Formats: sequence, C-alpha cells, structure tokens
Amino acid sequence: MTDFPQSPFGNVDDYLRGLNEWVAIESPTDDAAAVNRMISHVEADLVAGGLMVERVPGTAGRGDHLLARAPWRDDASPGILVLCHLDTVHPVGSLAHNPIRTENGRAYGPGISDMKGGAYAAAATLKSLAAAGTPTPLPVTVLYVSDEEAGSETSRGLIEELAQQSKYALVMEPAREGGRIVTARKGVARMTIEVRGRPAHSGNAHRTGRSAVRELAFQVLALEAMTDYERGITVNVGRIEGGTAENVVPEHARAAIDVRVPTDADAERVIARIRSLRPVFPDTEITFGGGLNRAPFRKEARADIGLLFDHAKALAADIGFELRDLPDGEGAGGSDAQFCVPFVPVLDGLGPCGAGLHTHEEHVEVDSLLSRAELLLRLVWTLS
Ligand SMILES: [Zn+2]
Repeated sequence: MTDFPQSPFGNVDDYLRGLNEWVAIESPTDDAAAVNRMISHVEADLVAGGLMVERVPGTAGRGDHLLARAPWRDDASPGILVLCHLDTVHPVGSLAHNPIRTENGRAYGPGISDMKGGAYAAAATLKSLAAAGTPTPLPVTVLYVSDEEAGSETSRGLIEELAQQSKYALVMEPAREGGRIVTARKGVARMTIEVRGRPAHSGNAHRTGRSAVRELAFQVLALEAMTDYERGITVNVGRIEGGTAENVVPEHARAAIDVRVPTDADAERVIARIRSLRPVFPDTEITFGGGLNRAPFRKEARADIGLLFDHAKALAADIGFELRDLPDGEGAGGSDAQFCVPFVPVLDGLGPCGAGLHTHEEHVEVDSLLSRAELLLRLVWTLS
C-alpha cells in the first residue's frame, strides 16, 4: 500500500472557510457574469496554488469553463479526468433563503452540495499535490464547467474530448443518501412537443377554431401516463406554454418533457412511444423534438467500473469509512459522468455527503468533508 502522508487538508474549520468563500459567490447557470465571477475566484485560487490553468471562453451566453492540471505532467498520455461544475440552480439572492451557516454538523448554503463541496475538494486535492511536489502515476486534469445544471450544452464537446484522452473519470457530484457514491445513472431524454391548431375568435367563430392548448392537454396526459415506477421509468412534462389571449382559440402550444429510463432499451422504447403519439383532435398537428441527452450506465454492465469501485472501497476502508454505492441509479438524477462513460470507467458522486439539493435546505455533512477529499486524493495518487 502506498504510504500516505497525514491529511494535507489542514483542519476542517479552515477547509470549510475556504469552501464557504466559494458558496458565497452565487453562480446560477443562466447568469454568465455571475458564473464567471466564480470561475475567476477558482482560477485565482488554483494559480496561487501552483497549478497550470486554462480558461475556455463561454459560448451561447454561458459562462467560461476552466481546466486545471498538476504542474509536473502536461504530456498527452491518458490520465485522470476530475469533473466538476461551478454553476448552480439557485438564482442570485438565494443566500438570503439559505444563508451560509453551520448547524448540528451541517454546513448550509446554495449549491454547497451540488456541487461546490465536491468542486472545492478537487481544487484542494490539486493544490495539495502541487504543494507536495510528488508526481502522481497518471496526469491529473480537473475540469470545471459552467452549464451542467442546464444540460451541459456548451461543455459537452469539451467533456467528451477530455474523456477520450483519459483513462479514468472521477465526478465530484454529491454523495447520495447514506454517503453512497454513484455507479449507475438513469438515461435522461429531453424532448419538446409543439402543437399547432387553427386560430379563431373565441366569441364569434369558436366553432371554426382548433385549440392547440386543448390538444396539448390530452397529449400531456398521454405522456404522463407513460411513467412506470415499477420499471424505473418517469415521463415528466415540466413546462407548458400556449395561446395568446383569453379571447383567441390558440394556434400554438408547446411543452418540455423530461424522461428518465434505466436502460438503453427502455430509452429507445419510450422515445419511440412518445414519437408515435398522434393528435387526438382533427386539424391539429403535433411535432416532437429532442431525444436522449445522457445515456444510462450501471456498474453491473461494466466490469471496469466495478474494478474502479472496488479500488475506491479499499482506499475508503483505509481512511476509515465504508464506501457504498447506489447500484440502480434510483434517486441519482443525471450528470456529466454520462458523457464520459462511453470512453472511460467512471466513479460519480465522490463529493461530500449532503442533502436538500436544489432546495433552500441544501447542506453538506461537515464530518464528510475531509474524508471524501482524502478519498479523491488517494484515488489520484494510486490509479495507474
Ligand atoms: Zn450537480
């Protein structure tokens, strides 16, 4: 077994103070300036820590992305990709609803769990490696993206490119219920339905109109009826819009659909079923857009992920905790791990333990901060 030094992360209060500085910079995905303030803070932190950083300008109105590398390896041999996002779902002002504070062993704040806690652990790890000056067996690259919570449209290409050049990917999303890391995720499809009817004056020509809103209402029910909890399949219509005024039979309506499926076969089947829906009322048209955004994966189907998990489990036992996983992907949501998994084995959910994600109760368990950072450090120290 490798000889590990004492934890390089100092005491937990100092560590938490640094993390809270990150949380204090609110960074919702749709506010590129806010996300870039966060990116700048992290960039300065890493540069001061002796890391090589590269800032990738944002596109399509999103914030920048940031790449950081350990200073002793800039060769092109496949290494370890540590994946983080610095955007959150919380609008600027959320600090008023979930102020930074520590109560009963929990540290609160918007985005502290998803995923500034894990993102901070990645920076702390890189900095401690740089400070120790001992090269790791493999090159280590940390990628901070700015748009994960909105589907990673502007970072997906970069993630996939780096994953293809890597040997392993470690994703710093928060650990789940009971500290479980994530070795399976459901596939995520993002789709839209557009409905076109025929407009008419609601007072003097209602009979000639064909309401797109009415058609959409029936389609929403058909879509939602595809949810099958037993099989782990959900179809959620999360946003609807349509019509122009009360006194007009609406010509247009649309909805956004989120689909979660456990397997590739389910993805194909459910998406095909959605696309086969036909209008209920005459003279209306429906069109579906979008498709599978993140492919499902599970450890059972990937021996390389199983081996990586076993390795991490042994390291955790050495640190002093039992590492467990979430093997069915239930309750795990989607993540950028799914863009890496076609190319490399992935461990996800390596961030601190927390709960209340995306709510005003979001927090991390303080006593998991150092042990999870230590696990990441030992992973990059031992993977070869
Ligand atoms: Zn996240």
